[in-house]
Parts: sequence; structure tokens; C-alpha cells
Amino acid sequence: MQVEIVTIGDELLLGFTIDTNAAHLARQLAAVGVEIVRRTTVGDAAHSIATGVRDALDRAGAVITTGGLGPTADDQTKPAIAALFGRAMRLDDEILEGLRRRWKDRGWGELPVSNEQQAMVPEGARILTNNHGSAPGIWLEDERGRWVAMLPGVPREMRGMLADTLLPLVRERAAASTGTVILSATLRTTGIAESKLADRLGDLARGIHGMPLAYLPGVDGVDLRLTARGLPAPDAQRALADGIAQLRALVGNHAYAEGDRDMADVVLAHCRDHRLHIAVAESCTGGLLGERLTAIPGSSDVFRGGIIAYENDVKHALLGVSEDDLRVHGAVSEPVVRQMAAGVRNRLGAEIGVGITGVAGPGGGTPDKPVGTVWIAVDTGHYQRAYGGRFFGDRAEIRYRATQSALEMIRQAPLR
Ligand code: AMP
Ligand code: MG
Repeated sequence: MQVEIVTIGDELLLGFTIDTNAAHLARQLAAVGVEIVRRTTVGDAAHSIATGVRDALDRAGAVITTGGLGPTADDQTKPAIAALFGRAMRLDDEILEGLRRRWKDRGWGELPVSNEQQAMVPEGARILTNNHGSAPGIWLEDERGRWVAMLPGVPREMRGMLADTLLPLVRERAAASTGTVILSATLRTTGIAESKLADRLGDLARGIHGMPLAYLPGVDGVDLRLTARGLPAPDAQRALADGIAQLRALVGNHAYAEGDRDMADVVLAHCRDHRLHIAVAESCTGGLLGERLTAIPGSSDVFRGGIIAYENDVKHALLGVSEDDLRVHGAVSEPVVRQMAAGVRNRLGAEIGVGITGVAGPGGGTPDKPVGTVWIAVDTGHYQRAYGGRFFGDRAEIRYRATQSALEMIRQAPLR
């Protein structure tokens, strides 16, 4: 089944809001066999919505919109599309009652008059209930079976309504028409260049079992994504699982996760299995490594804490880094990073200490320590390793890549 997406909002056209809704819709719908054949973004004006949706409907016969269901004057989606279908708007008492109750239950008082607009629905519409917000979604279908589903713009509400209500509806229709799905699986790699990966993969570099292989380089490393199209779900899942296993065998230890799992999660699980704790001493990353670790729920049983040691005197006072070494070798150096890792390990009572120090730029580079120079150390008491390298990109990328390498060094360290 083919569907077009129309996302609605001036803020999307102006670039202030990134259109994450279209991306989320495309991923979720593919999994139930719906192919998104075109995405359009239009502004809030009723005529823009009408034109965008009419053209999409003419091409694909099935359209999903997001945005413009709110209570204010710039929310024109429902009347604009109702007019396209030649339907009048009517007040839905049940929705109105629900809105009043929602306001009362939350202690917000009387429902403002402008919110009553959210209870207006086109004649003959099917209501898609919103368990995550106030604006209900709308399903409109004409006598030829062409349909438009209108979802809210707020991403959390849109995702909830999609999962609760729209996906089951669409899945039924897609299954009736083809019974096949579009599924992807991702193998995440780090520390190896895209071209080297392709060399390693040899005959499989272009794809496996007719599934194309995409190389997706980013700050985490290179993700390898296989996509199965036109198969029933169980066959697609089997082909993907076998494909990922074949990739793993060739990529070896550079593969650290599947799907969208973060390296921090992998490292925490690994340390948890070994009953080990992590402490971090961060200079140029300013706490980013600690942030990545603590972003993972349940990190407290592994992560002990960190010291952001930005200034030299802080590196000395809180981590015990030698003042002589700081003076002679500079803050971005192997002796200093080793002492940072050992110092934080001892002072915070962790089995694993990590140190990061570098030149994140854009200023501060010198001929022998250009912007991007980073030293990272891992110290487990019986094992110490320091790595000095140069990362490329802007300040944010250099800092992120440094944390990714530090995590990778923990993952690769012999832990007991
Ligand atoms: P609306 O339902 O059009 O009033 O949108 C409410 C809010 O949802 C907007 O302020 C945006 O921040 C957000 N939003 C709307 N459309 C999108 C979209 N396509 N992707 C991500 N966020 C969106
Ligand atoms: Mg809007």
C-alpha cells in the first residue's frame, strides 16, 4: 500500500521545527507494509493545506497529515480537508465533554472557548482518540475508499495516536492489499572506516539475499542497515536475522550493537555483568561522557560519578595530576591523561577509571597539538591503556567522538 505524508506548519517551512513526525511515520508505517512514496510540507493557511492534501490524494489515494489540530486560529487542518471532501463541520458533544473533563481533572478550571474548536469534526468522520493530549485525530474516507488521517503535530501525541489507533487500522488495510512488509535491521560499528568495512564485506558489500545494504556514517561510527521489502513479516524477519549474523561474522569486534542501542548502554551492561564500576575524569568533554552514561536508565549500579577537571589546577587538586607533568607535557598529553584515569579511579573508588583531555577547538590548536587532538585513558588497576589521536569535525563532533572512543576503550578492555 502506498501513502503520502503531508506535514503542516509554518514553523516547519521556516526551519524552526525539524520535521521529526514525517520520519517517525515513515519508519513505523514501513513495518506494517506501507510505503511512503512522497512527503510534502505545507504552511498553516487553509488553501495551502487543501492544495497539498488534494494533490497527494490524487496521486496516492491515501494521506496522513500531522499538525494544525490545535485550538487556535492557525489550526485549519480539519475545516480545510473537510471542504475538500465536501463535508460540513459539526460539534461533537462527546469530544467536548471529554475536553471539559480533562481541564477540570487537571485543575485548569473552565474550558476556554477557543478549545471548543477541537470538538468540531467533519460530518461522517471517524474519531481517532487521543490518550496523550487534547486534540482528537480524524479519519475521513470518501465513497471511492480514498482516505486522509489527520494526526496532531506535537510529536509525543502523534506517536501515541499512531501506535494506539492508526497503525492497527492501516495494518488491516495493508494486509488486505498485499500482506507484505518493509523491515530494516541495523548493525552498529565503530572504529572502522566505511570503505574498510566495504572491503571486509567483500561479496556482501552490496547486499544479502537481495536486501540492499546501506552504509550510514555518523559520529557514533558506521551503521550498516539491511532493508527487506515485499516479504511477509516472518520471512522478512528471518532474512534480516540471517543477514545481520553474516555481517557480524565479517565485521568482528567492531560491531557493538544492533538497532539504535547506544554504546553507553552496551558498556554499562558489560560492566554490570562483570560487577565493575566506572568513574570518569573529563576535561575537553566537560561531562558529556557522564551525561551519556547517566542518560541510560539503571546506570547507577555501574556509574559512580565523575570530575570535570577543566583547569590545570583542578586536574592537580582533585585528580592528583603532577604539576610538573602538566607544565612539561601540557594538559593534552599521555602522562596527564593516564594520571587523570588513575586519579579518578582511586578517588571515587571505582574499578574502572577513564580520563579524557583534548583540544576541542575551534581555537587553542598548535602545530604539534592541532584542534581535534585528544588523549583518552582507561585504567582498571591491573590494566592501563592510553590512546592519543586526532578527531575531525566541529567542536560538538570532536567532543562526541572522544566520548565514543572512550566508551569503546572500556568495551575492549580486558575486564578481570
Ligand atoms: P500543531 O498541532 O500544528 O499546533 O503543532 C504543535 C507543535 O508540534 C508545534 O509547535 C511543533 O513544535 C510541533 N510539531 C508540529 N509538526 C511537527 C513535525 N512535523 N515534526 C515535529 N514537530 C512538530
Ligand atoms: Mg501548528
